[in-house]
Amino acid sequence: MSIEFSPSLPFRVSQVKQWDIEADVLIVGFGAAGACAAIEASRAGASVVLFEAASGNGGTSALSGGEIYLGGNGGTPAQRAAGFTDETGDLFRYLMMAGGPDADEAKARLYAEESLSHYEWLVAQGVPYKNTFVPGKLVEPATDDCLIWSGSEQAWPFSEQAKPCPRGHTPQWTGWGGGRLLMDILAARVEELKVDVRYDSRVLALVADDANRVHGLVVRSDGVTRFARARNGVILCAGGFVMNRDMVRKHAPHLMRSDDPIGTPGDDGTGIRLGMSVGGAAIHMNEAFSSLPFYAPESLVKGIIVNERGQRFINEDAYHGRIGHHILQQLGDRIYLLVDSETYEPPIELLRVGIAAAGDTWEEVEQDLGMTAGTLTHTVETYNHHAAQGQDPLFHKAAAWLKPLTTGPFVALDCRIDYAFYPHFTLGGLDTLPNGQVLTDQREPVPGLYAAGRTACGLPRWGGGYSSGMSLADATFFGRQAGKHAATPGA
Ligand SMILES: Cc1cc2nc3c(=O)[nH]c(=O)nc-3n(C[C@H](O)[C@H](O)[C@H](O)COP(=O)(O)OP(=O)(O)OC[C@H]3O[C@@H](n4cnc5c(N)ncnc54)[C@H](O)[C@@H]3O)c2cc1C
Repeated sequence: MSIEFSPSLPFRVSQVKQWDIEADVLIVGFGAAGACAAIEASRAGASVVLFEAASGNGGTSALSGGEIYLGGNGGTPAQRAAGFTDETGDLFRYLMMAGGPDADEAKARLYAEESLSHYEWLVAQGVPYKNTFVPGKLVEPATDDCLIWSGSEQAWPFSEQAKPCPRGHTPQWTGWGGGRLLMDILAARVEELKVDVRYDSRVLALVADDANRVHGLVVRSDGVTRFARARNGVILCAGGFVMNRDMVRKHAPHLMRSDDPIGTPGDDGTGIRLGMSVGGAAIHMNEAFSSLPFYAPESLVKGIIVNERGQRFINEDAYHGRIGHHILQQLGDRIYLLVDSETYEPPIELLRVGIAAAGDTWEEVEQDLGMTAGTLTHTVETYNHHAAQGQDPLFHKAAAWLKPLTTGPFVALDCRIDYAFYPHFTLGGLDTLPNGQVLTDQREPVPGLYAAGRTACGLPRWGGGYSSGMSLADATFFGRQAGKHAATPGA
């Protein structure tokens, strides 16, 4: 009789007849987190087997921009070359704000202190950075340049508590998509260290004793089910759950408002379910990066964003992911970006944003949109009145982006949630210590179990604070911590 395995149900160690594979450390998933965990575990002298469900390495990490959030300790070479000094305290305060109401202080502190040495580690693995800075507001460099403003550093309220500094570091790769280069380099290092990599190997369940201590896992490769024993620990690096729409519906239903989950089929929540099966706590499962990447062209930042009642709700110079987060909190799907003829530039095609209404006066635009008379016009009048004095008392948009919208014709760009591009991926996952150990609801470590990357809830855990580069920063850095600790758990 064949046994049914489920990621939600641990297989009991007493039922294992024989171990087919044995190693000190077993890793599930060969994206950025898994690669970094494997490198560090192996460098610490552990034998490592890395299981990957796909036929090649990379996961979502290889689809990404490869941008990593780095700084502190005076600054990386790119920051210093561009004339910025990035103090560790500023990075720490920014990370704490970015983490939201339940920021993980221990992780934010460790990352702020060691981010510069993490940069040096990445360079030592072979990741190339051209130490050049691209000023302005953009999603990713279209060139092979390195440093950009990748979050809300210069925007209120972040700018008030942490001295602004650009921290998005993209590898030297022309155009979007430097994640493939990052993964090729990390994978080459994994190979060099002779980590035993098993592709086409899907992990089906954890193996645990009755006290939920993890002893290994069940894996299916080439149609054969095998039992693998971890002498020290299992590290779950299997990505997030954005592609599992049942899990999204259950934990983050607001994301169902958009049809643009981004990731690979591997982001099906298996890693999180494996951890929960042995008592791991999943936290902040409602949180996500959810964005309206409306700049560049950066002149659109001088416009204002309103909901279907014609009301503003955010400073438009914040990071596009923070804006997307607040858009998804609005009642109704209709969202408009209002610009005048001086600020208008066509949005990029990818955005699926067209013109909803245009007019020679804001009254005409208001009418065209079917809004109650006086609503939109009042918003624009109030904004224009203060913008003319270089102020935004309602949302504190920085003076550099304030321009009264007074030169007709006027346009309402159609950013409706159910049509425009709102890419999103999940931030919730297993609660972990900075060393990667998975925690129970009582914050007790689950013996023998670690998690990193989007399987864990790491530094990025609040959509309102996410900044580009934070997911890979977290995946690579805390993947390393998990690998080191699992290699020498008693140390
Ligand atoms: C288009 C795009 C651009 C992005 N750009 C950036 C960016 O520039 N900077 C940034 O910080 N973030 C970016 N992100 C987000 C970031 O890429 C991911 O959050 C991050 O790569 C997650 O890394 P990971 O190691 O946790 O997961 P992944 O890289 O997805 O790796 C997980 C691996 O686990 C495997 N797996 C899953 N289940 C199993 C199983 N049961 N058994 C075996 N293997 C399994 C998967 O196949 C996958 O290979 C971007 C995302 C997208 C989609």
